[in-house]
Amino acid sequence: MKYISTRQRQETDIKTAILKGLADDGGLFMPEYIPKLDSDFFENLPNLTLQEIGFRVAKEFLGDSISDDNLKQIINEVLNFEIPAVKISENIYSLELFHGPTMAFKDVGARFMARMMSYFSEGKPMKVIAATSGDTGSAVASGFFDVPGIEVFILYPKGKVSPLQEKQLTTWGGNIKALEIDGTFDDCQALAKQILSDEELNQKFTLTSANSINIARLIPQSFYYFWAFAQLQKLGKPIVFSVPSGNFGNLTAGLFAKKMGLPVHQFIASTNENDVIPKFLVTGNYEAKPSKQTISNAMDVGNPSNFERMKSLFNDDVTEFRKEIESYSFSDKETEIAMQNVKKEYNYILDPHGAVAYLGLEALRSFGKLRTGLAQSDKVSGDFVGVLLETAHPAKFVEVVEEVLNEKIIIPEKLEAFNKKEKKTVEFPADFEVVKQFLMEEKR
Ligand SMILES: *Cc1c(COP(=O)(O)O)cnc(C)c1O
Repeated sequence: MKYISTRQRQETDIKTAILKGLADDGGLFMPEYIPKLDSDFFENLPNLTLQEIGFRVAKEFLGDSISDDNLKQIINEVLNFEIPAVKISENIYSLELFHGPTMAFKDVGARFMARMMSYFSEGKPMKVIAATSGDTGSAVASGFFDVPGIEVFILYPKGKVSPLQEKQLTTWGGNIKALEIDGTFDDCQALAKQILSDEELNQKFTLTSANSINIARLIPQSFYYFWAFAQLQKLGKPIVFSVPSGNFGNLTAGLFAKKMGLPVHQFIASTNENDVIPKFLVTGNYEAKPSKQTISNAMDVGNPSNFERMKSLFNDDVTEFRKEIESYSFSDKETEIAMQNVKKEYNYILDPHGAVAYLGLEALRSFGKLRTGLAQSDKVSGDFVGVLLETAHPAKFVEVVEEVLNEKIIIPEKLEAFNKKEKKTVEFPADFEVVKQFLMEEKR
């Protein structure tokens, strides 16, 4: 399988695509085609384990670049936690993606990427650059912590991540360095891109990206769409996934799963007030905007990086987008009310991101047509099983959740451990030259 840049000017193999992250032409790597899984796989799906599914799906993308034994070992290490589909109400399930070490879904992608990079780099020294709006950084740090030869630089926006998220970024030490940037997440993302494409830095170091721009983050995120099906197929109803979206890596992985043959009835791209994609689906015009701060801060993205990948999947045709994706945006107020209602009616605690996804399911069920005017009638039929991707444990956003629900929530031991450690960061203005200077002084 070849990997091709979304900007068409670079073609390479999976090893290079993973080690580079971003293509030389500034584009994102995509497999040259999305492989199809055979009907045996789908017939047998309810009998497979999460790890077996992961291996089968990953194998299609990785081919012979890694032996079956090595790949199986990596998959088993990555997926060593549960991903249950928990029933919230008659037709709504929460796919809990937060049982990994940092308690956010990004553990899945980051752990897989870290292991693949370490496998392909064969011990050569490497610097990993990651911009984060909150959860990426900690998942990446956890995935790479203590991996020999690899040094990780995490850029995060000062004052714009939750206190616990900040602890999860800044308390590792060792091969993990946290750069506190006086700016927004978009500034951090722009800095990361500049670093990765800077000639001088690239001459001195082997640099790579750990953002959702890396194809190794995306591939494993498709596993759990199959796994949700394996768990819920027996209900015998069409399945709709609502994906709380920021950079749209999670959703793009879902689109991969569908193209591989998974019979997903509908995707919902649920966003907070950072509504570039919902607007695009209505108007057909993509207009990046500065990001707005919300209570679902891991989705505060004004220029989603995976839009390029989605465009390439849909041949740059907005009508193709509209066939697969409904998209709605919700205010913080709506999000808070959803959290309160779900707690009151079903005794289930959603984090703010999962709550946005919940609202997406409700919107599709009740007024899909009104919101965009574009939904096909079969899409808005109420008789479907809605799966919301619960992307983080509510305790990661303890301040917001406690205030909204007006009750104390229990902090799991895994998270409490971070709180006890001391923050270590280096502060920077959102200025590429200053950050570059700092990096140039690093050892090779
Ligand atoms: C990163 C993140 C998202 C958004 O995922 P994308 O793949 O960037 O769309 C949603 N929820 C949480 C908790 C996250 O950390």
